[in-house]
Amino acid sequence: MTKSTNHIVIKIAETDNVAVIANSEGLPEGTIINDDIRLLQNIPMGHKVALLNIGLGEKIIRYGQVIGFANRPIKAGEWVEESKMLLPEPPDLNSIPMPDNKTLSELKPIEGYTFLGYRNSDGSVGTKNILGITTSVQCVAGLAQYIVKKIKQKLLPKYPNVDDVVALNHSYGCGIAINVPSAIIPIRTLQNITTNPNFGGEVLVIGLGCEKLPPESLLLQNGNSKTNSDKKFSNVFYMQDESFYGFSGIVEAGVKRTEIHLKELNKRKREICPAADLVVGMQCGGSDAFSGITSNPAAGYAADLIVKAGGSVMFSEVTEVRDAVHLLVPRTINPEVGKALLDEMKWYDNYLEQGQADRSANPTPGNKLGGLSNIVEKALGSIVKSGTSPIVDVLGPGEKIHRKGLIFAATPASDFICGTLQLAAGMNMHVFMTGRGTPYGLSMVPVIKVGSNSKLSKRWFDLIDLDAGKIATGEKSIEEMGWELFHLILDVASGKKEVACDKLGLHNDLVLFNPGPVT
Ligand code: CA
Repeated sequence: MTKSTNHIVIKIAETDNVAVIANSEGLPEGTIINDDIRLLQNIPMGHKVALLNIGLGEKIIRYGQVIGFANRPIKAGEWVEESKMLLPEPPDLNSIPMPDNKTLSELKPIEGYTFLGYRNSDGSVGTKNILGITTSVQCVAGLAQYIVKKIKQKLLPKYPNVDDVVALNHSYGCGIAINVPSAIIPIRTLQNITTNPNFGGEVLVIGLGCEKLPPESLLLQNGNSKTNSDKKFSNVFYMQDESFYGFSGIVEAGVKRTEIHLKELNKRKREICPAADLVVGMQCGGSDAFSGITSNPAAGYAADLIVKAGGSVMFSEVTEVRDAVHLLVPRTINPEVGKALLDEMKWYDNYLEQGQADRSANPTPGNKLGGLSNIVEKALGSIVKSGTSPIVDVLGPGEKIHRKGLIFAATPASDFICGTLQLAAGMNMHVFMTGRGTPYGLSMVPVIKVGSNSKLSKRWFDLIDLDAGKIATGEKSIEEMGWELFHLILDVASGKKEVACDKLGLHNDLVLFNPGPVT
């Protein structure tokens, strides 16, 4: 980073021939940067300036990687934006070398970091104590919401240790082709969500009665198996059950069945748990050119700390990893994991091709306004949140985590779908980086929102939890911000601090990933 007379111009790697303007109002034409480069245009915040003359067809380099080829001669001091660049080919998945042990970085363990969590009988640890009510079909979503409202009014005050009651509504279950191979993704997602540590094994399922997806099937994988027949009875109920009379009768029966679960949940108490019990899902949304300079590097630093403390970190978003996967395969712990990572990329290439989409569908218009010219630049900034740890495992969409360490959980980049799949994988903390700004939040797991630039973090002072933009202005180092985020994760996981979206009650819907046909 160079900072002279209030001009902040950020270059990441030695070989980069472009740098990012970090001043919140951008820099005007005529400004002299790096002592001898005169800006030939006004360049907005987050956008790139050429540091050298770049000839037609020559490489445009950021993060030490080729992010594009000049489609016209670009002069030093010129604004380098999408229309002046050609998109490079994606890495060839068949020619990326598999890892060898020499390339893996060894992380020194750290000890003594703890949080106050709710320990479950399956060993997992919750960071909230929530009664989850799931459904086997969208038809009963309204009933689930109605029951939640009733419980909040009538029952919740009687169970002070229960934080919340939440309807796990979704759009699956009706008109689905349940036997096609791809149906496994939404079905295992719903099953695994019921085992999320924040629900303490006490999830209730509401069915309609004519859907293809049997409500009982959603609890098959529930770690806290119900041997008690009372509980079994109260785990699942059908709206079409002929013993119910009228809507009020259905609601009354539903509410009654939740009491046994509320009683169990109310027994839960926070206890001291090692940071090794953290399962943190990392995600970014509404990214900008700072995401890869500030918030994602800070998240990556915190991810390394969590892994060093023995915990688990997931990163996801296949389309934002695809163009940088050649940098990740060497970090996998063995060729099997390396191959699994490449297989997820291949699956997604195929999925996009079937839908006649290609990788240029990402980034969004907002990303581009924030300075990200194309998916290659976005991906190089996105993967930084994985830190430097070895990648120990790869999960398919909706699969459950079963290892400690850094894990790639394959998901679409869509914020809600990624969050839903990370919830199914078992995250008990969520960290969400944003540059353009999004009010993203989930009610099931605390979501810490990290702003990539101070302009946004200041304007959205009550929506953003941590301003990583201080890295760009030089007020904080990546290391300091990484530690700050790590401590914030521990405090939020302990219930000592409330995140912005929970304070405001801003929560998004769950959105399943269903790549299969609908009938
Ligand atoms: Ca996202």
